[in-house]
Amino acid sequence: MSSSVLQVTAGDMFIDGRPVATGRRIEVRDPGRIADVVATVAEGGVEHVEAAAGAAARAAADWAGTPLEERLSLLADALTVVRARIDDLAVILSRENGGTLIESTMDLSRGVDLFEDLLGRAPGVLGDRTIDDERQWLTVERRPVGVCALIVPWNSPVVLTISKLAPALIAGNTVVVKPSVLAPVVVAEVLGAIGAVLPPGVVNVVHGDAEIGQALVAHPAVRKVSFTGSVAIGRQVMATAADGMRRVSLELGGNDPAVLLDDVDLDSAVPLLARGIYTRAGQICFAVKRVYVPRSRHDEVVEAIGSVADEYRVGHGLDGNATFGPLITAAARARVEGLVERARHAGGVVRELGRPTDSVDWDGGYYLLPHLVTGLDQSAELVTVEQFGPVVPVIAYDDVDQAVAMANDSEFGLCSSVWSADAERAIGVARRIEAGGTFINSHNVSSLSFDMPFGGVKRSGIGRERTEIGLLEYVEEHAIRLAH
Ligand code: NAD
Repeated sequence: MSSSVLQVTAGDMFIDGRPVATGRRIEVRDPGRIADVVATVAEGGVEHVEAAAGAAARAAADWAGTPLEERLSLLADALTVVRARIDDLAVILSRENGGTLIESTMDLSRGVDLFEDLLGRAPGVLGDRTIDDERQWLTVERRPVGVCALIVPWNSPVVLTISKLAPALIAGNTVVVKPSVLAPVVVAEVLGAIGAVLPPGVVNVVHGDAEIGQALVAHPAVRKVSFTGSVAIGRQVMATAADGMRRVSLELGGNDPAVLLDDVDLDSAVPLLARGIYTRAGQICFAVKRVYVPRSRHDEVVEAIGSVADEYRVGHGLDGNATFGPLITAAARARVEGLVERARHAGGVVRELGRPTDSVDWDGGYYLLPHLVTGLDQSAELVTVEQFGPVVPVIAYDDVDQAVAMANDSEFGLCSSVWSADAERAIGVARRIEAGGTFINSHNVSSLSFDMPFGGVKRSGIGRERTEIGLLEYVEEHAIRLAH
């Protein structure tokens, strides 16, 4: 955590197989120690988008024509290089995005594991299918789409990048990746390591914010855009992509409900539920963002969540005593503080829980303690928006129909959870929830499985990542038919 370790990387972009520097640098500061500059990265201009998209377009035919087994073997080699660097990169990641070391290590190791899982699934998905009978000879080829623009956020940047990069490269596409300016360092290191093993132009990285993102989405060479981030920016991406009829996959925000049924076992449920709410200071797209409890058990649940969260310690991500770290920016913290303040004015009862770790420089980072809010109704701001911070509303319901109606009463539909001692009963309720996924008796990063497609309904997005369906997002089918 020493501020003397300023330059952890050259911070160049990566275009056409080469590092590219510019005179303009983006400063990446540690959100837990704002005085610390973790690194600077080269800020790209529209000319770099042009160069990267051009390189990706030139590399596309050869990469698409490389036999699948050869692509898979090159990518497996690249992953070995990344896996060997997980421990070092995790420390940098905690410093750039504020996550705990456990969270950063998990982001990197899950990313590599996910890539390997998709390498294993590819042969069953990407081959041609041929029918040859008395009526016809028909073959359906699964071809790469072409140049893909991958735009990613800062919160779990590695696994979220790999959720796009792996299927894109495996299916034979070339890519231009634009990381978030808030956490570009480790993503760029991972991409540089993978890109160095592949032919020039297959993987390209440009740094920058909205202007660069828009230039990339609008670039004529780009055939598909895969974006993970907020609904507001996702909408802009989709509008810009519409002009060139580019394919879009959008992984956007969430406002995940957790529905506790009346037979829920609080001893086992509440520690997991609290983890689902507060991990990463709530800055996870599928964090628990609303909790619905039977009125008869409301006070008991609030008490139980409160006593777990009261044990939490908030501090720097590299402080082993910290349950969670800071928010990502001053603006993000101010926004969450505003939501809490307005919830209080709207009649909510706000409990501030936990405490800072002993060693944290509280004013030196964007820290916020865990909060629990009761007494709000379904229409309250804190219930309807994505808070993306360590605060959650608990809302009482009278019967399960009402709970399901309130859970579904949202613009979002990413994940969700149902909690009950009776798994079958919980599954019955889960089937009624409008979301991309519903967990039973858990709701956190460890609840995911590589067999589970991930994505949202409604404003939470378009498309799915992971599994066979995630690979299919990066192919176009081409049918060739000869009628007999
Ligand atoms: P964001 O939308 O602000 O930024 C995401 C990316 O878009 C960044 O790389 C940013 O530089 C880029 N960008 C900004 N303006 C752009 C523009 N006009 N055109 C193109 N690109 C542009 O999101 P964020 O703050 O980095 O991430 C938090 C949000 O992401 C939350 O809403 C969260 O729920 C969501 N998220 C969703 C998932 C998911 O899988 N569904 C995962 C993680 C985060």
